[in-house]
Amino acid sequence: MRFAYVNGRFLPHREASIHVEDRGFQFADAVYEVWSVRKGRLMDSDGHFQRLERSLGELRIPAPRSRAALEHIISELLRRNRVTNGLVYLQVSRGQARRDHAFPKQRITPTIVLTCKRLDHAAAETRAERGITVITTPDQRWARCDIKTVNLLPNVLAKQAAHEAGAVEAWQVDTDGHVTEGSSTNAWIVTKAGKLVTRQADHGILHGITRARIFKCAQELGLEIEERGFTPQEAYDAREAFLTSATSFVTPVIAIDNHIIANGEPGSLALTLRGAYLREA
Ligand code: PMP
Repeated sequence: MRFAYVNGRFLPHREASIHVEDRGFQFADAVYEVWSVRKGRLMDSDGHFQRLERSLGELRIPAPRSRAALEHIISELLRRNRVTNGLVYLQVSRGQARRDHAFPKQRITPTIVLTCKRLDHAAAETRAERGITVITTPDQRWARCDIKTVNLLPNVLAKQAAHEAGAVEAWQVDTDGHVTEGSSTNAWIVTKAGKLVTRQADHGILHGITRARIFKCAQELGLEIEERGFTPQEAYDAREAFLTSATSFVTPVIAIDNHIIANGEPGSLALTLRGAYLREA
């Protein structure tokens, strides 16, 4: 049986629920975090906890549990669900209150939900060896993409557009014509000169924890990174392209908008970084 954790209790997954007037449900007034679990361990655990704390702080949602308490809940959840390879999902909403846009005047308790699931890392490995395809699509999101909120409708529509086009991911393009990031991944290219390029981490993108780890891996490998936007055209002409996220690690991109990247094979730097990431995170 699958279990979820809701507000202090482990419940059978199919019975786990929250109130209809939960502000996460009503307004997307909630943040979330996702950890990859590999061989029973949380990958990049600290980075994801730090980002969770920052997201909560930016929205003035009180932390519902200490980090130590959350670590304990997560390990119990993984144990009960017998997950050793997969992911953990955590969501914290401002809580439940009579529907009104402004924060409730009275103190309310944040809602906390945790679920986990198994993932087939072997299938992800095969996908990385083959490479994936992406499309580009307009970035239709709000101005605080650095906060990891559950306000994901533009991301949902972008991913759906990708799937309908037979692609795996959609790279979002801002009004200046630069790629910001994917719908659930950060976007990277390698220039002909061998430099890694990824969008600067301001309010326009999620500060990926995998992205940050790749900065460290790249430094150790003596690779240079330019933090700046790049256009779809620059990406079509790149030597390599790839994307990063907690659940896909580093995944080579072999075509963008039907333009084959280089010779259409996964790039060697992307694969090197994937290996380095899996050793370090
Ligand atoms: N950008 C967006 C919009 C995302 O949803 C994600 C996945 N959380 C990422 C980037 C990658 O972030 P991370 O490496 O922390 O998973």
